[in-house]
Amino acid sequence: MSDAASQSLEGILENQKKAFTAARPEPLSQRRDRIKRAISILSEHGESLAEAMNSDFGSRSYEGSMMTDIVSTIGFGKYCLKNLDHWAAPDKRSVRFPLGLMGAKAEVRYEPKGVVGIMSPWNFPVNLSFGPLMQVLAAGNRAMIKPSEFTPATSDRMRELIADAFDESEVTVITGGPDVAQAFSSLPFDHLVFTGSTETGRKVMQAAAKNLTPVTLELGGKSPTIIGKGADLTRAGERIALGKMLNAGQICLAPDYLLVPEDQEEGVVAAVQLGVHEMYPTLLDNEDYTAIISDKHFERLKGLVDDAQSKGAQVTVVNPANESFASANTRKMPLTILRNVTDDMKVMQEEIFGPVLPVKTYRAIDEAIDYINDHDRPLGLYYFGVGKEQERVLERTISGGVTVNDVIFHISVDDMPFGGVGPSGIGSYHGPEGFREFSHARSTYQQPKIDIAKLAGLKPPYGDAAKKAIAREMK
Ligand code: NAD
Repeated sequence: MSDAASQSLEGILENQKKAFTAARPEPLSQRRDRIKRAISILSEHGESLAEAMNSDFGSRSYEGSMMTDIVSTIGFGKYCLKNLDHWAAPDKRSVRFPLGLMGAKAEVRYEPKGVVGIMSPWNFPVNLSFGPLMQVLAAGNRAMIKPSEFTPATSDRMRELIADAFDESEVTVITGGPDVAQAFSSLPFDHLVFTGSTETGRKVMQAAAKNLTPVTLELGGKSPTIIGKGADLTRAGERIALGKMLNAGQICLAPDYLLVPEDQEEGVVAAVQLGVHEMYPTLLDNEDYTAIISDKHFERLKGLVDDAQSKGAQVTVVNPANESFASANTRKMPLTILRNVTDDMKVMQEEIFGPVLPVKTYRAIDEAIDYINDHDRPLGLYYFGVGKEQERVLERTISGGVTVNDVIFHISVDDMPFGGVGPSGIGSYHGPEGFREFSHARSTYQQPKIDIAKLAGLKPPYGDAAKKAIAREMK
């Protein structure tokens, strides 16, 4: 990246910081106005953004884009508007007896941090830029957004729309490749929220550490799906097929692999296949089914299947209409189920991020639990089943979030924090937790007129009052 370009990034940040400081204190109505402007971009231009996503992916379902990127993000903006007063209210805290009686007051004020950097990936390019933006604005901050270079049309469209609706000192979009991303992550933001891979997240956190910029890292990983003994297999199969085929499996929360009881493997695989057949009678020209984002990503997924097959995996391609994928000039990939998988296969080591579904069997539920605990803490964990076994799974595993008897759905609850744990992420947004993540919790204490320090024996020269106070506290 040229010096001039990086200086202009620094210049934009400097301007935003100055404007932020000069405008304080801003009323909540100003935050509301900004959130409403962000919502209007989506409600007025959702269709053109969906078209841009379709062009970036080669083929992306219009309804899918409207639901995952536009409508859900508008809903999240409305949720922020509804809760803003309540989130922004100071929290009264208790003071030690009898300070309260003497007039001491303590409260935590949730104040804006300043300028927040938002870095987003390509898989849900609008949702993962505007989603954090809604809560960054709710907390009273300014924002600079760096979307992914893999969705150039969508990133350009977001840049234009944001430039029309916001002053550059409020919110702005910076486009460019990994060099721009690297320079962006090195800026001295007041907070940086990054959504992307664990590998890039490490680099982003290192760059942010130089400025002691606090980070929220929304990363990826291998989210396991356990089929319990009491699971309704037909329902589980359909829901797994839906979750794995949505956006062609290019979802951070996609069910990465299945853990199924040994004696139910056939039934589970048949149920997933049935689910695919019912939702996608055809795939190649089916506009409901999304393509893989780029040739490079497509080749990586094919490589995962080839590697697994060469090491002994049994491959089942779910191709409802027996279409010829080999001769089609497309990046659409049918769901590919892999059985007899082992940990030396790449598909069991890397996050899959596509329509490839390994199935691993277990004899007793603790074997499945131990397998999960022996690997990185995942972003999501899914369990299909009932009763005591469900609680055992929840109590003995750790993951960013959980959905029981379905996959992915916990992210749709606006009022719960969404984030990972360990290698799947640090911090979270959504819910009241997200507002706090982008706010500074400022402890504010008011001392009464009375000389508390003297009363408590804190003032030298120390005498009887100090001795008594110490003796009292030591009891
Ligand atoms: P990525 O890590 O390759 O890229 C994300 C962003 O990082 C892009 O904007 C890119 O420009 C930037 N970037 C690239 N190189 C960089 C560098 N050296 N320094 C700083 N920034 C750099 O991720 P991706 O391929 O776009 O997205 C897929 C990944 O994102 C998957 O791992 C997925 O699980 C994860 N993801 C997580 C969530 C979540 O909410 N937890 C949501 C969606 C995707």
